Amino acid sequence: MSQPSASPAPFRVIDLIRKKRDGGTLSTAEIGYLVAGCTDGSIPDYQMAAWLMAVVLKGMNREETAALTDAMLHSGEVLDLSFLPAKKVDKHSTGGVGAKTSLVLAPLVAAAGLYVPMISGRGLGHTGGTLDKLESIPGFRVGLPVAEFHRVLKACRASMIGQTEKVAPADRKLYALRDVTGTVESPYLICASIMSKKLAEGTDALVLDVKTGSGAFMKKEEDAVFLAQLMVETGELMGKQMAALITDMNQPLGHMVGNALEVQECIEVLHGGGPADLRDLCIELAAWMLFLGEAAKTVAEGKKRAAEIIASGNAFDRFRQMVELHGGDISTIDDPTRLPSADHRVEVSSPQAGYVSSIACEQVGTACVILGGGRERKEDSVDPAVGIVVHKKIGDRVGAGESLCTIHCHSDAQAALAKTLVRESYQISAAPPASKPSLIRRVIYKGEY
Ligand code: URA
Repeated sequence: MSQPSASPAPFRVIDLIRKKRDGGTLSTAEIGYLVAGCTDGSIPDYQMAAWLMAVVLKGMNREETAALTDAMLHSGEVLDLSFLPAKKVDKHSTGGVGAKTSLVLAPLVAAAGLYVPMISGRGLGHTGGTLDKLESIPGFRVGLPVAEFHRVLKACRASMIGQTEKVAPADRKLYALRDVTGTVESPYLICASIMSKKLAEGTDALVLDVKTGSGAFMKKEEDAVFLAQLMVETGELMGKQMAALITDMNQPLGHMVGNALEVQECIEVLHGGGPADLRDLCIELAAWMLFLGEAAKTVAEGKKRAAEIIASGNAFDRFRQMVELHGGDISTIDDPTRLPSADHRVEVSSPQAGYVSSIACEQVGTACVILGGGRERKEDSVDPAVGIVVHKKIGDRVGAGESLCTIHCHSDAQAALAKTLVRESYQISAAPPASKPSLIRRVIYKGEY
């Protein structure tokens, strides 16, 4: 007896590649077919790669971008956090140098009564990653199973974990293909990649911190704005409360770059201190999270509330509780000098007197990676103790021979290349720069730009 034949495929992949190549618009069903075929391996990589390149060259409209995001989101597990009795909000940053706000925001917003189920990433290229920072706290576990993630959220309203195998598997496959086929740099593909992972968290609202400048992936402000608008519109189409802040990344945020150093600086902010730029950005992002999560009627009220929560000590207490629930050693939170540290110091001094006019910020991030604070290859482990303390920022006056940065490392030899990179990243001019870069460039919210 002959076997019944399998039902024919509804589409031919080559037709979908040609359609996009020629500037056509794909339907939701066509995009869903491609994503399903990529995830289960039935569509070969060479065809997916050809389609991805067609998207890079021809772009997608809003509906196609939302359809791609939705198909990638539903390629895996979507967390159901509806059992939590208040709004769930999160923040996503497109990545930068010394960009460490998540460690302050999660406990701060949780202390205001909202839930923050944060799925974070590791360092990417020259940028640091939240998971690597958290793992510099001895014992902190970022790989909690979903049931434990729920338990931590119930107990302290904030939990920070890594992407599980089951979340957005289509993104893992597509990202790996994009990485080796020159197809990372498409705002539509970046949007779908980020949003599919973030929406899988089951949040009600999402605030985006889209960075622009020499230390960001989007060097040009117009590219950052375009991506931010796309992500906001895609999230809104999928029923989420969305806002994006376009923020400056022409110099490291705060003073510390490096995993344990950044945890230490976040603890300073949670105690009401820390550098003004980091503190201001945390308050601004927290205010938007509180506003979108309906814990504040206006962003101004959110700012006031966020500042009060820090001043009361509740944000720090919440951070301490979250660390303990994740298995972290809270003695290092109570006394940050107990965090991993490197005992060797190398000063990077200014060759001349003048003013800092610019910093090639990506180079500072790369210097930290070279020290071992980030990964050169996927399989590398990171050294939590190394890093760079930035003393001079744009507009600061500096004397000849005065220290611009201090490198925390294990030996002079280890720091040699990083030292050159950091020194060469600084431009010193005789006159002060006309203006310092403003931290918050634009806000994108409900079509208002
Ligand atoms: N980060 C992501 O998660 N995906 C991208 O495509 C780019 C940055």
